[in-house]
Amino acid sequence: MPQKKIVPYQDTWLYRIRHSCAHIMAQAVLEMFPEGKLGIGPPIEDGFYYDFDLPRPLTPEDLERIEARMREIIAGNHPFIRREVTPEEARALFQDQPYKRELIEDILQRGTDEYGNPLPPGQRPVLTTYRHDTFEDLCRGPHVEHTGQIHPGAFKLLHVAGAYWRGDERRPMLQRIYGTAWETPEQLEQYLWRLEEAKRRDHRRLGRELDLFSFHEIAPGAPFWHPKGMILFRELERLWREEHDRRGYQEISTPILVHRKLWEQSGHWEHYKENMFLLEVEGQEFSLKPMNCPESTIIYRSRLRSYRDLPLRLNEIGRLHRFERSGTLHGMLRVRQITMDDAHIYCRPDQILEEIDGVLDLIYNFYQIFDFEPEFFLSTKPPKAMGDPKLWEIAEEALRQALERRGIEYGLKEGEGAFYGPKIDVQVKDAIGRDWQLATVQLDFQMPERFELEYMDRDGTPKRPVMIHRAIFGSFERFIGILTEHYAGAFPVWLAPVQAVVIPITDRHLPYAQEVGARLRAAGLRAEVDDRSERMQAKIRDAQLQKVPYMLIVGDREQAAGTVAVRLRTGEDLGAMSLEAFLGRALEAIRTRQCLGSRRESLRCAPARSWRPSRTRSSPPTPSAAGSAGAVGIRSRSTPTAPPSSGIATASSTPPRSAA
Ligand SMILES: [Zn+2]
Ligand SMILES: [Zn+2]
Repeated sequence: MPQKKIVPYQDTWLYRIRHSCAHIMAQAVLEMFPEGKLGIGPPIEDGFYYDFDLPRPLTPEDLERIEARMREIIAGNHPFIRREVTPEEARALFQDQPYKRELIEDILQRGTDEYGNPLPPGQRPVLTTYRHDTFEDLCRGPHVEHTGQIHPGAFKLLHVAGAYWRGDERRPMLQRIYGTAWETPEQLEQYLWRLEEAKRRDHRRLGRELDLFSFHEIAPGAPFWHPKGMILFRELERLWREEHDRRGYQEISTPILVHRKLWEQSGHWEHYKENMFLLEVEGQEFSLKPMNCPESTIIYRSRLRSYRDLPLRLNEIGRLHRFERSGTLHGMLRVRQITMDDAHIYCRPDQILEEIDGVLDLIYNFYQIFDFEPEFFLSTKPPKAMGDPKLWEIAEEALRQALERRGIEYGLKEGEGAFYGPKIDVQVKDAIGRDWQLATVQLDFQMPERFELEYMDRDGTPKRPVMIHRAIFGSFERFIGILTEHYAGAFPVWLAPVQAVVIPITDRHLPYAQEVGARLRAAGLRAEVDDRSERMQAKIRDAQLQKVPYMLIVGDREQAAGTVAVRLRTGEDLGAMSLEAFLGRALEAIRTRQCLGSRRESLRCAPARSWRPSRTRSSPPTPSAAGSAGAVGIRSRSTPTAPPSSGIATASSTPPRSAA
């Protein structure tokens, strides 16, 4: 069984490294500013921060000095020592630290943790401190054993930002120092490279530069699609429809403006109302739909269904609206208007396995096209679950089997399913190694119940179908945002808004260039002729900046021979070829949706810069050697697993039917 338990971040060695770095940084800052006041300093994703109340704003030079001092502290190999303290001891220890005093009182009176947050259920509030060298902090840990276990070349302070104490704009504004820390300098280099790359690839900037889409104040969180961006959208729609038509899905479309009655029945009115846009029409309350699911059940119920009608696979490109605070909107990645590539599958319990298998096949096929490596996570029954326990068992077993018979290694998130059904989440790694959550396959036992969905079974009695919600892209907006960054704007030929630019060497060659352009367009290519009176070199540069896959240069020789000189945006020169030869090549790349070097281009990783090792350093132990109570090692199974693409590499493949 190729499954692995997901180790919670708090139980990892990296978490300890980052937490310990935050303490070491706080010591260095307090040495610089003995009158400084401490806020909180937790580990975060990819790093850590600490909040300080200081007499003056920090400068980049300060950060360098703090980093240098941190390296000295690390070299001291100071052990981290935990101790439990009484309320009196704690108050005395932090008598000059008003923020810490506030946190201590919160722990005592409200049972919070040392950051002022509610404790996870089952944990009791404690007053403990961790001390290393001269610094002692209110803290529950965990930490590394001693400062020497942090690699002096594997951390970096990144920047300073203002942060209100406890996120409250009526409280003092503190200075938050962000840092990052890793196990090795190579990991740090990789991370810093990723940060730089992410900036370079920012889809909001590329969206403007490539004229794909824009955002405007008059419609926050809703993109304006420009003609070139609309080509991306349409090509993805085309791919999506092709794949779904082939797989027995039936496309539907449901209204955007819907009466509240529907949301009352689905439960959204009670649980999701604050995320919905409401409108009053003729004295009745309506809402813009935040999801497609309840409306798809109306189509299911529109006629009597028999066991023979199932599975019923209804797919929909649905335009949704969800209220997101303006402060949280982020380009295409967080919008208010969402175009979801949705589908709902209604099936009998005995069909779950086959349906999930079909969805996994679809997911693989899709992600392969984009060169995404998928990673799978199975979330199982939570303590408070609804629905027949038998059904849960059948469903979880089906999800497990569907994953395992494809040899997919998956992460197991025990008890993290929704209360209404288990699910599979799919994450992909993009070209610079970032993880994105994309597809979900969610089983739902509740909605068929709420909407009283039925089918007439073989024995003539009415039964409840199971509902499967699934999305592959997540949403067109987010997916296009991610693709733009993944490819750094250099889309594969089939997606590229402009696939070829014809560049005449001089104005004299313009008529021939026009003729070539017309023939390319007639063959179905998105081709343009650059007829500006610029120099040829400038035109090539511009086409490269616009990331046009093919540049066709035409001059006397080409005109005489009826050829084109082909250059790729990578700078590669393919030389002269007949127009037919070029068309054959380009159309094949489009038909097969090849990546054409775009991955190669985007995968170029910066070489690791060298760093100077400091004098003393002990090698960090492995996470398992650190042996924290809650840590769960990754269970690796010895069963050899087939590569995930086996059996599903070709579009027409059918899944192996070993356990149906
Ligand atoms: Zn701490
Ligand atoms: Zn749904």
